[in-house]
Amino acid sequence: LQLEMVNVAKLINETVETLQEEITKKEISISLPEAKNVYVEGEKDRVRQIILNLVSNGIVYTPKGGKIEVNLLEKEKEIDLIVRDTGIGIPKKDIPRIFERFYRVDKARSRHSGGTGLGLAIVKHLVESHKGQIQVDSVEGKGTTFTITLPKKQDDMHEQ
Ligand code: ATP
Ligand code: MG
Repeated sequence: LQLEMVNVAKLINETVETLQEEITKKEISISLPEAKNVYVEGEKDRVRQIILNLVSNGIVYTPKGGKIEVNLLEKEKEIDLIVRDTGIGIPKKDIPRIFERFYRVDKARSRHSGGTGLGLAIVKHLVESHKGQIQVDSVEGKGTTFTITLPKKQDDMHEQ
Protein backbone atom coordinates (compact mmCIF):
# COMPACT_ATOMS: atom_id res chain seq x y z
CA LEU A 1 0.00 0.00 0.00
CA GLN A 2 1.29 3.45 -0.96
CA LEU A 3 0.48 5.33 2.24
CA GLU A 4 -0.45 8.99 2.25
CA MET A 5 -2.77 11.27 4.20
CA VAL A 6 -6.09 11.12 2.39
CA ASN A 7 -8.65 13.88 2.87
CA VAL A 8 -11.82 11.76 2.87
CA ALA A 9 -14.14 14.78 3.06
CA LYS A 10 -12.61 16.27 -0.08
CA LEU A 11 -12.57 12.90 -1.83
CA ILE A 12 -16.31 12.45 -1.20
CA ASN A 13 -17.02 15.79 -2.89
CA GLU A 14 -14.78 14.99 -5.86
CA THR A 15 -16.25 11.53 -6.31
CA VAL A 16 -19.87 12.64 -6.08
CA GLU A 17 -19.13 15.34 -8.64
CA THR A 18 -18.18 12.65 -11.15
CA LEU A 19 -21.57 10.98 -10.54
CA GLN A 20 -23.60 14.18 -10.77
CA GLU A 21 -25.06 13.39 -14.19
CA GLU A 22 -26.59 10.09 -13.03
CA ILE A 23 -27.79 11.72 -9.82
CA THR A 24 -29.54 14.47 -11.74
CA LYS A 25 -31.01 12.04 -14.26
CA LYS A 26 -32.66 10.04 -11.46
CA GLU A 27 -33.77 13.18 -9.64
CA ILE A 28 -32.01 11.97 -6.53
CA SER A 29 -31.28 14.48 -3.82
CA ILE A 30 -27.92 13.94 -2.21
CA SER A 31 -26.58 15.43 0.98
CA LEU A 32 -22.87 15.51 1.70
CA PRO A 33 -20.93 15.76 4.97
CA GLU A 34 -20.38 19.20 6.45
CA ALA A 35 -16.86 18.33 7.57
CA LYS A 36 -14.19 19.87 5.37
CA ASN A 37 -10.97 18.15 6.36
CA VAL A 38 -11.05 14.60 7.67
CA TYR A 39 -7.96 12.51 7.07
CA VAL A 40 -7.09 8.84 7.08
CA GLU A 41 -3.76 7.30 6.30
CA GLY A 42 -4.23 5.10 3.28
CA GLU A 43 -4.20 4.91 -0.45
CA LYS A 44 -6.17 7.67 -2.14
CA ASP A 45 -7.32 5.70 -5.17
CA ARG A 46 -8.53 2.84 -3.00
CA VAL A 47 -10.50 5.14 -0.72
CA ARG A 48 -11.94 6.81 -3.81
CA GLN A 49 -13.05 3.41 -5.15
CA ILE A 50 -14.82 2.61 -1.86
CA ILE A 51 -16.80 5.86 -2.02
CA LEU A 52 -17.52 5.44 -5.73
CA ASN A 53 -18.86 1.89 -5.43
CA LEU A 54 -21.08 2.68 -2.44
CA VAL A 55 -22.56 5.89 -3.83
CA SER A 56 -23.01 4.24 -7.27
CA ASN A 57 -24.99 1.45 -5.65
CA GLY A 58 -27.06 4.06 -3.86
CA ILE A 59 -27.90 5.66 -7.20
CA VAL A 60 -28.65 2.38 -9.00
CA TYR A 61 -30.79 0.83 -6.26
CA THR A 62 -32.75 3.95 -5.35
CA PRO A 63 -35.87 4.76 -7.39
CA LYS A 64 -36.32 8.10 -9.06
CA GLY A 65 -36.82 10.95 -6.62
CA GLY A 66 -35.09 9.20 -3.72
CA LYS A 67 -32.44 10.42 -1.36
CA ILE A 68 -28.82 9.57 -0.62
CA GLU A 69 -27.06 10.84 2.46
CA VAL A 70 -23.30 10.67 2.93
CA ASN A 71 -21.99 11.30 6.41
CA LEU A 72 -18.55 11.42 7.92
CA LEU A 73 -17.94 11.01 11.62
CA GLU A 74 -14.54 11.66 13.09
CA LYS A 75 -13.76 9.72 16.24
CA GLU A 76 -10.59 9.54 18.27
CA LYS A 77 -8.84 6.77 16.37
CA GLU A 78 -11.09 6.12 13.43
CA ILE A 79 -13.61 7.62 11.08
CA ASP A 80 -17.03 6.37 10.02
CA LEU A 81 -18.07 6.87 6.43
CA ILE A 82 -21.81 6.35 6.15
CA VAL A 83 -23.76 6.03 2.91
CA ARG A 84 -27.53 5.84 3.38
CA ASP A 85 -30.19 5.60 0.71
CA THR A 86 -33.97 5.46 0.52
CA GLY A 87 -33.84 2.70 -2.07
CA ILE A 88 -35.23 -0.78 -2.58
CA GLY A 89 -33.29 -2.31 0.30
CA ILE A 90 -31.80 -5.79 0.56
CA PRO A 91 -33.81 -8.82 1.69
CA LYS A 92 -32.60 -10.20 5.03
CA LYS A 93 -31.67 -13.56 3.57
CA ASP A 94 -29.37 -11.98 0.98
CA ILE A 95 -27.44 -9.69 3.32
CA PRO A 96 -24.84 -12.32 4.32
CA ARG A 97 -23.98 -12.88 0.66
CA ILE A 98 -23.78 -9.40 -0.90
CA PHE A 99 -20.01 -9.13 -0.36
CA GLU A 100 -19.35 -12.29 -2.37
CA ARG A 101 -17.94 -11.83 -5.84
CA PHE A 102 -20.63 -11.90 -8.56
CA TYR A 103 -23.47 -12.12 -6.04
CA ARG A 104 -26.51 -10.10 -7.05
CA VAL A 105 -29.76 -10.17 -5.12
CA ASP A 106 -31.90 -11.31 -8.01
CA LYS A 107 -31.83 -11.01 -11.73
CA ALA A 108 -35.21 -9.32 -12.03
CA ARG A 109 -34.51 -6.40 -9.70
CA SER A 110 -31.04 -5.73 -11.03
CA ARG A 111 -31.57 -6.64 -14.68
CA HIS A 112 -31.48 -3.07 -15.91
CA SER A 113 -28.54 -1.92 -13.85
CA GLY A 114 -26.00 -3.80 -15.93
CA GLY A 115 -23.76 -4.62 -12.98
CA THR A 116 -21.58 -7.67 -12.47
CA GLY A 117 -21.84 -8.14 -8.72
CA LEU A 118 -18.24 -7.17 -8.02
CA GLY A 119 -18.66 -3.69 -6.50
CA LEU A 120 -19.15 -4.71 -2.88
CA ALA A 121 -16.59 -7.53 -3.02
CA ILE A 122 -14.06 -4.89 -4.08
CA VAL A 123 -15.22 -2.50 -1.34
CA LYS A 124 -14.81 -5.20 1.29
CA HIS A 125 -11.32 -6.05 0.04
CA LEU A 126 -10.26 -2.39 -0.03
CA VAL A 127 -11.68 -1.69 3.42
CA GLU A 128 -9.89 -4.71 4.85
CA SER A 129 -6.62 -3.70 3.19
CA HIS A 130 -6.93 -0.51 5.29
CA LYS A 131 -7.71 -2.56 8.39
CA GLY A 132 -11.22 -1.19 8.46
CA GLN A 133 -14.64 -2.71 8.82
CA ILE A 134 -17.84 -2.64 6.82
CA GLN A 135 -21.33 -2.94 8.15
CA VAL A 136 -24.70 -2.98 6.42
CA ASP A 137 -28.16 -2.22 7.65
CA SER A 138 -31.06 -2.63 5.30
CA VAL A 139 -34.83 -2.84 5.23
CA GLU A 140 -36.47 -4.15 2.09
CA GLY A 141 -38.53 -1.45 0.43
CA LYS A 142 -37.17 1.26 2.72
CA GLY A 143 -33.47 1.68 2.23
CA THR A 144 -29.92 0.70 2.99
CA THR A 145 -27.08 2.05 5.09
CA PHE A 146 -23.45 1.06 4.64
CA THR A 147 -21.03 2.09 7.39
CA ILE A 148 -17.31 1.91 6.73
CA THR A 149 -14.94 2.33 9.64
CA LEU A 150 -11.35 3.21 8.80
CA PRO A 151 -8.49 3.74 11.25
CA LYS A 152 -7.05 7.25 11.04
CA LYS A 153 -3.50 6.03 11.38
CA GLN A 154 -1.93 2.82 10.07
CA ASP A 155 0.76 1.05 12.09
CA ASP A 156 1.79 -2.03 10.22
CA MET A 157 -0.04 -1.89 6.95
CA HIS A 158 -0.09 -5.06 4.93
CA GLU A 159 -0.77 -5.66 1.29
CA GLN A 160 -3.72 -7.99 0.51
P1 ATP B 1 -21.37 -3.93 -9.89
O1 ATP B 1 -21.20 -3.15 -8.63
O2 ATP B 1 -20.28 -4.93 -10.10
O3 ATP B 1 -21.64 -3.08 -11.06
P2 ATP B 1 -23.72 -4.85 -8.51
O4 ATP B 1 -24.08 -3.45 -8.10
O5 ATP B 1 -24.84 -5.77 -8.83
O6 ATP B 1 -22.72 -4.83 -9.73
P3 ATP B 1 -22.51 -5.07 -5.90
O7 ATP B 1 -22.24 -3.62 -5.86
O8 ATP B 1 -21.46 -6.01 -5.41
O9 ATP B 1 -22.86 -5.56 -7.37
O10 ATP B 1 -23.83 -5.36 -5.07
C1 ATP B 1 -24.30 -6.70 -4.92
C2 ATP B 1 -25.82 -6.71 -4.85
O11 ATP B 1 -26.22 -6.13 -3.60
C3 ATP B 1 -26.50 -5.89 -5.92
O12 ATP B 1 -26.74 -6.64 -7.07
C4 ATP B 1 -27.80 -5.48 -5.24
O13 ATP B 1 -28.76 -6.49 -5.39
C5 ATP B 1 -27.41 -5.39 -3.78
N1 ATP B 1 -27.14 -3.99 -3.35
C6 ATP B 1 -25.92 -3.38 -3.25
N2 ATP B 1 -26.05 -2.11 -2.82
C7 ATP B 1 -27.37 -1.90 -2.63
C8 ATP B 1 -28.15 -0.79 -2.18
N3 ATP B 1 -27.58 0.38 -1.83
N4 ATP B 1 -29.50 -0.96 -2.11
C9 ATP B 1 -30.08 -2.12 -2.46
N5 ATP B 1 -29.41 -3.21 -2.88
C10 ATP B 1 -28.06 -3.11 -2.98
MG1 MG C 1 -22.53 -2.15 -7.45
